Amino acid sequence: MTYNEFRTEAIAKLRDCTDVENPDFEITTLICHICSLQKARLLAIRGESIPEKYLPTLSEAVERRLQHEPLQYIIGEWEFFGLRMFCGQGCLIPRPETELVVEKAIELIPKGGHFLDLCAGSGCISVAILNNRKDVTGTAVDISPEALEYAKKNAEYHKVEKRLEIVNMPLEEYLPITVPDCIISNPPYVKTKDVDAFPQVMKYEPRIAFDGGHDGLEFYKTIAKRYSARFLKDGGFLIFEAGYDTVREVEAILKYRKMETTVLEDMFGVERVCIGKKTASK
Ligand code: GLN
Repeated sequence: MTYNEFRTEAIAKLRDCTDVENPDFEITTLICHICSLQKARLLAIRGESIPEKYLPTLSEAVERRLQHEPLQYIIGEWEFFGLRMFCGQGCLIPRPETELVVEKAIELIPKGGHFLDLCAGSGCISVAILNNRKDVTGTAVDISPEALEYAKKNAEYHKVEKRLEIVNMPLEEYLPITVPDCIISNPPYVKTKDVDAFPQVMKYEPRIAFDGGHDGLEFYKTIAKRYSARFLKDGGFLIFEAGYDTVREVEAILKYRKMETTVLEDMFGVERVCIGKKTASK
């Protein structure tokens, strides 16, 4: 079977899968990943036969996608902030809107500073910051040991593991040894009723990475209460990703804690990030 024949057949199958928006892109990505090809190379050899050894893995990958498993889990990685990040069952897939959190953190962490990444999951935020700021250190906290396995792998792959402390603990229990200059968090923020209504593809990702309680605000309240006064330096920043429908409520939570706030739009024009600056205590 040639690459082209496989592609055409697989694309036709995926057309019936409701959560696949772009079957061509997904099949091309799968073939390139499994057969270790660049996209341009695949185009050049599309009329050639696929080596036998790849066929079972290719068919299995298409089957998994037909069962709604996310493409990112099947290939085991995804690009985030221009970096290769490993991901899989047990951690949230890195999403492009989260890149804004990284961009702001890179800008706001002072020279030689320390950050705290709460609900760190795959560690993509921490690793991307450390990769771009060689002068800073971070601590990534998460309740899920499965997700933190990916954080460890990502930190090692990008050679930042010596500057990232990984802590497996609920954020209500963590006691920072170094008071951070910046707290960053993309916590679970989807309202429980909306998580219940997720499409099948999102049911593969851990529910605890999404469910922010009935109002989607549970984690923001906990973080603001526990961390903003005691565990953040004066003049330091709290950078939150939030839901399009909750970001202004998150802003109100930070204002209540006497922080100066800014709300920013992501690359899709959606209000997505809320930053709070801790004003010096008198
Ligand atoms: N951005 C994710 C989504 O709605 C939610 C991630 C989260 O809860 N932190 O798909």
